[in-house]
Amino acid sequence: MESSTVFFEEKGEADMVEKKNIDWSSLGFGYIKTDKRFVANYKDGAWDEGVLTDDDTVRITECAGVLQYAQTCFEGLKAYTTEDGRIVTFRPDLNAQRMHDSCLRLEMPPYPVDKWIDAVVETVRANEAWVAPYGSGATLYIRPYMFGSNAVIGVKPADEYQFRILVTPVGPYFKGGAKPITIRVSDFDRAAPHGTGHIKAGLNYAMSLHAIVDAHKAGFDENLYLDPGTRTRIEETGGANVLLVKKDGTLVVPKSSSILPSITRRSLVYIAENILGMKVEEREVLFQEVRDGEFEECGLCGTAAVISPVGKIYDHGKEYAFPSGMEKMGPVLQKLYDTLTGIQMGRLEAPEGWIKVID
Ligand SMILES: *Cc1c(COP(=O)(O)O)cnc(C)c1O
Repeated sequence: MESSTVFFEEKGEADMVEKKNIDWSSLGFGYIKTDKRFVANYKDGAWDEGVLTDDDTVRITECAGVLQYAQTCFEGLKAYTTEDGRIVTFRPDLNAQRMHDSCLRLEMPPYPVDKWIDAVVETVRANEAWVAPYGSGATLYIRPYMFGSNAVIGVKPADEYQFRILVTPVGPYFKGGAKPITIRVSDFDRAAPHGTGHIKAGLNYAMSLHAIVDAHKAGFDENLYLDPGTRTRIEETGGANVLLVKKDGTLVVPKSSSILPSITRRSLVYIAENILGMKVEEREVLFQEVRDGEFEECGLCGTAAVISPVGKIYDHGKEYAFPSGMEKMGPVLQKLYDTLTGIQMGRLEAPEGWIKVID
């Protein structure tokens, strides 16, 4: 395949960026090393200025806090090329704030929110050739993360930290349309009551790995976790929040202190209420409501796929099928999906402050 040169309308020829020679539409969701990454270090109570570097390796002591006691958290967002050729990110201020909150819960020093956003912008700009062209379905996934980097053997927070941002191009989440998936009610919990379910910490994922491998072995796509205290209320899956639609078209989203506050979910709720004029209920949702057939549609939401439709939920020998079926996303979730992706891709007007242009 020939390398394609993309000209941006608003830019002069001097700013022309030659895109990488990648078959964007066949990319998967995997790591590909790009040109630059951001690295900042915390020492003696302060963050240094941070640099962009070519070095994709991390060198730390064998006794680093992250290696011994999993003191680490992360974020995930994307850069897109819009219809008119601009590179943008979506609501990075919310990712910055969420990572700030994750850091506080893990006794880590937050990287200042404004500088966090600047560092994301700088890292994307330095990897502009890796941002997929509009219409390819691919995007640039941005992974900011922080970890305790000095030696810790007695249990306590580290004194030194590293904050890094890597980017990697990822393909369209659904190749050939979003097919509904089947999820199962898990016998494992992903979060403890009053634990760390509401922050984006690696530890929440480490303990979900056995559950997801087990679900896949049993033929299911994902685990649906119920509230760890009573196992009667719907929480979320391992990496996505849950959306439900009632017969009258009301959007219902589970509320709980151990759910990760998804930015996609919060944006969809805003769109439903303020753009589409829908009714929205954010409340505790009993799994019994699914058993009672209260919902027409179900989906999972997060940055990676925006919305994945759920066709069925399996619960200990019983299967609950949503009327929207196993062929395609239900009409209400589809409308929400089209509106949010339209805003992200610059086809629809964005609410104030949602789109951060990288120029
Ligand atoms: C990241 C994540 C989500 C999705 O959040 P977005 O901000 O929408 O990407 C949902 N649940 C969990 C557990 C997560 O880690």
